[in-house]
Amino acid sequence: MLPSDFRFSQTSLQDYVDCPRRFQLRYVDAQPWPAVQSQPVLERERHLDLGTRFHRLVERHQLGMEPDTLARTVDDPQLQAWWSAYLGFDYLHTMEGERFPEFRASVDIEGHRVVVAYDLLVLRPEGNVVILDWKTHRWPPSAEWFAARMQSRLYPLVLVLAARRGVFGAVVRPEQVSLVYWLVGSSGDVVEFAYNEAQFESDLSYVGSVLRGVDRESAREEWFKTADEAQCRLCEYRSLCGRDVEIGAFDQFGIDVGNIVSDDVVLFEDVSEVGF
Ligand code: SF4
Repeated sequence: MLPSDFRFSQTSLQDYVDCPRRFQLRYVDAQPWPAVQSQPVLERERHLDLGTRFHRLVERHQLGMEPDTLARTVDDPQLQAWWSAYLGFDYLHTMEGERFPEFRASVDIEGHRVVVAYDLLVLRPEGNVVILDWKTHRWPPSAEWFAARMQSRLYPLVLVLAARRGVFGAVVRPEQVSLVYWLVGSSGDVVEFAYNEAQFESDLSYVGSVLRGVDRESAREEWFKTADEAQCRLCEYRSLCGRDVEIGAFDQFGIDVGNIVSDDVVLFEDVSEVGF
């Protein structure tokens, strides 16, 4: 059984969509990851650690810390490359508006609490809201890949729902929201998504259906295992599922800080959460 106070995130919802059994092992059974001492996994963990440190650097800079002070904590060539790219990321630095780094919001959908942690929100002077998210993937995912991710549906959806409860002092219409991924780890490009009422309604329906799916699956002793064995190639639970698939190469996968590590690691302790 899921704990009654379980809070869904884009991480856990994506896990469910990818493989309900993975969701069960990770969140219902709290199954520790079996030790996997293979090179791709160790390399991935190092990459995730650097990604987390990069997010902290950006957060602190957006909160007003001096770049020189922050630069003294950068002790890794990869982190240095990302930090240098960030300092030259004029798309962000020239964007007018009030900034809210590592901003959390939570809403209730289908009787479940859903929590989102935004890397950065920028409230533009005209009332629009830009959601920015840093991606340290080594390969540049396509816009289609991003569009299919739970994150792309959940982030603007929760923002609009939260705004209806007054968190920004005014209602934010879907048309006022945009979502921007910055591919700092690969091409350096930005991938932008505009939002609208039809997409909002579609996302609300989709996320609701996923949450109802979790409720249904909860009645089963063993949750459904994905038929897509590609999902198993970098899954930590491969050895528990009898899935005899070759472990994937690190660079083949959509390594996503927000989708692999636990929320406790990604969602920093010193951010505020606004719940409704
Ligand atoms: S190994 Fe495959 S079937 Fe098992 S939990 Fe992971 S993704 Fe699901």
